[in-house]
Amino acid sequence: MSVKTLVLWDIDQTLINAMGLGHTWYQVALHAATGVRLRHVPSFPGRTEMAISRELLTLHDLEATDELIAALHRELVAVAEREHPLLATRGQALAGAAEVLEALARREDVVQSVVTGNLVEIARHKLAAYGLDSHVDLDIGGYGSISDQREALVVEAIRLATEKHGHDFPVDSVVVLGDTPHDITAATHHGAIGIGVATGRFTVEELEAAGARAVLADLSDTEAVLAAILGS
Ligand SMILES: [Mg+2]
Repeated sequence: MSVKTLVLWDIDQTLINAMGLGHTWYQVALHAATGVRLRHVPSFPGRTEMAISRELLTLHDLEATDELIAALHRELVAVAEREHPLLATRGQALAGAAEVLEALARREDVVQSVVTGNLVEIARHKLAAYGLDSHVDLDIGGYGSISDQREALVVEAIRLATEKHGHDFPVDSVVVLGDTPHDITAATHHGAIGIGVATGRFTVEELEAAGARAVLADLSDTEAVLAAILGS
């Protein structure tokens, strides 16, 4: 049997734009979990929920214990659940995202999932709000609760895909797409392929400099995205 390509999508600013909702959820969750008002905002793009949470707590003079991080994550999921209808009205799927996911889902030689800094529950909400959840297998994703280090999320996704599909996905058949240098280096760290999508705050040049095999301005040209992913 021939090798399948494992395509791993970043979510925020790659497939969707939640218009800062994730940010307000942190404000609510921090207050609910600790009683503290948000005063300092960590950098979000390309970082995992674990890394952001640890920094957020430290910035507010709180000790980032496992218990406190777990409490913060429970509150984050709770606020995301309460407010998920807002995603559909305030945010949007990025141009071409639905078409590319659908086109890849039709291929027998591709398995699709996510590597995202989000918690799994929040990743589901974010994709479902725009109807993008049906073509990616969220059971085999790498999520932000796993580690501070995004590269560990890629390893986890490959492990879960291998387990589920019963065959190896060699690193050179793993393609990670994202809008930040973190997405790219998380892939190339293991020899996987990183493809940049410049719909976040980083430029084509910055994503190239991070080691992306290709960088797309956006996902609007389905054929061009498929060609970049499949290396054809
Ligand atoms: Mg992103």
